Amino acid sequence: MTSARRAEYLKAIGIDRWIPRAAPEEALPGTLEAVDGRTVSVQAGAEEAPAPAPSVESLPARAGAEAVAGEVVEARWQALRAEILECTKCPLRQGRTQGVVGVGNRESDWMVIGEAPGAEEDRRGEPFVGRAGRLLDAMLRSIGLSRASNVYIANILKSRPPANRDPRPEEVAACLPYLLRQIELVRPKLLLAVGRIAAQTLLSTDAPLARLRGRVHHFGERNTPLMVTYHPAYLLRSPADKRKAWEDLKFARSVMTRLSTDGDRS
Ligand code: URA
Repeated sequence: MTSARRAEYLKAIGIDRWIPRAAPEEALPGTLEAVDGRTVSVQAGAEEAPAPAPSVESLPARAGAEAVAGEVVEARWQALRAEILECTKCPLRQGRTQGVVGVGNRESDWMVIGEAPGAEEDRRGEPFVGRAGRLLDAMLRSIGLSRASNVYIANILKSRPPANRDPRPEEVAACLPYLLRQIELVRPKLLLAVGRIAAQTLLSTDAPLARLRGRVHHFGERNTPLMVTYHPAYLLRSPADKRKAWEDLKFARSVMTRLSTDGDRS
C-alpha cells in the first residue's frame, strides 16, 4: 500500500498522523504458535509436490458435484435467512422492524462479528449501516477490505435490543445458533470480533476486552483463528483508542497473510 493511500485510510478512521513504533509489523513473531501458544504448522522450505492434473473424464463429474454443492449451500442460506426473519424465539421480536441477517461476500476469508443491530440497522435490515458502521467500513478499508467484496459481517443478535441495551443471556442463547450456522456456511479463515459483547460471547469469557486483544484465539471445532478489537461505536466515543484499533487491524492482517501462505502450502 502506498503511504499516500495509507494516510488516506488512517484519516478516514480518524488518525491524522501515524508514527510507527520502534517495533513495527515486521517484529511480529515468526509463527502463529509464538503469538498464541498454539501449534500451526509452518514448514519453511517444505515444498509439496504439485497435485496431479485431473483427468479429462473426471472434469464434468467434478463440475457437476461442485454445482450440487453450491446449490446445497445456497439452500442452507435461504433456510437460515427465512428462519431469522420469522424468528420468535425471544421477546426482541416484539420491538424489531425486521431480523438483520448479515451482509457481504459469503465466501470471504474474513468474517466480522458485532453485537446487535441498532436503530438504523433495524430499519434497513443490514448490519453496521449507521455511524458506527461507517467507521467500521473505514477500519476495514484501512487493511484493504470492503464489505462488498471480501468480508462477511454479522452480529451476535439478529434483532435490535430496545434502546441499544446490552443483549441478555437468554437472547444470546436463543440467537447464537444462527451465527454458528453462518460461520459454518462462510467457513472464514479468520473471525474478527468487534467489541466486548462479541468477543466475550464467542470466547465464553468474562475477561475484559483489553485482555482479549493482541492475541490469536481459536473458535469452534474448526479451530478458526479469532481476533478481537474495539467496537466502532466505542471508538466514536473514545477516539484516543483508534490507534490501538489500528494496531489490532494490522495484526489481524498479518495473521491472515500468514494463514493464506500456510493454506497455499498445504
Ligand atoms: N453495532 C453492532 O454491533 N452491530 C450493528 O449491526 C450495528 C451496530
